Amino acid sequence: MLKTEKLTKIFRTEEVETFALNEVSINVKAGEFVAIMGPSGCGKSTLLNIIGLLDNPSTGKYFFDGTEVGTYKERQRTQMRKGNIGFVFQSFNLIDELTVYENVELPLIYLKKKVSERKEMVNAVLERMKIGHRAKHFPQQLSGGQQQRVAIGRAVVANPKLILADEPTGNLDSKNGLEVMNLLTELNKEGTTIIMVTHSMHDAGFAHRVINLFDGEVLTENVNEKMAEIL
Ligand code: ADP
Ligand code: MG
Repeated sequence: MLKTEKLTKIFRTEEVETFALNEVSINVKAGEFVAIMGPSGCGKSTLLNIIGLLDNPSTGKYFFDGTEVGTYKERQRTQMRKGNIGFVFQSFNLIDELTVYENVELPLIYLKKKVSERKEMVNAVLERMKIGHRAKHFPQQLSGGQQQRVAIGRAVVANPKLILADEPTGNLDSKNGLEVMNLLTELNKEGTTIIMVTHSMHDAGFAHRVINLFDGEVLTENVNEKMAEIL
């Protein structure tokens, strides 16, 4: 599904050069559930942003679905992202001015789906996320757990191949966190590839494999023994 070769990302300011990623080479197969762990500032979000085509590497290669996309311009990246990649963030990143329904509908509007088709797809996802009864509410009227379920709904409504989750349970209590992990696991079992950044050993236990980053480099890659038979 995706592969990076010596992916390097350098952030330059007037004074300093930060190697946020230094020659990171990883390979993720379709259907995998991969966790990325490591201390704060080690480059996890930077890696996820490049994998998610929100940003470009400074040097190195990135292949998505066999195509070298690391050199893509913003417009090409947006095009490639549409319908292929869904994002879930720690802070939910819902649009406060839009209702629950409208938030989940957004990706389908970008994909120019017809109104009737949108309605069917959004309602199905809202039911699945157990949030149908809140369709007309605004994000601020919902609990954190409900907001994250809306965000997952928005991430999956267009049936992406890949879901990228950056600390998806970081702002949730353990009960809601578990619900989010169960949803991600269910989506993975249906064939969606998942790459999740997490600080939580518990959450990482849901993944098939853990990639440990340190100072912008891959330190270790461990297959989760309990899940090994799936790979
Ligand atoms: P993590 O998600 O693991 O906490 P990040 O990927 O956010 O780490 O950051 C990795 C390093 O790159 C950090 O040193 C961070 O300060 C730096 N960094 C991230 N984004 C930027 C940016 N836009 N400009 C400058 N430095 C950045
Ligand atoms: Mg981060």
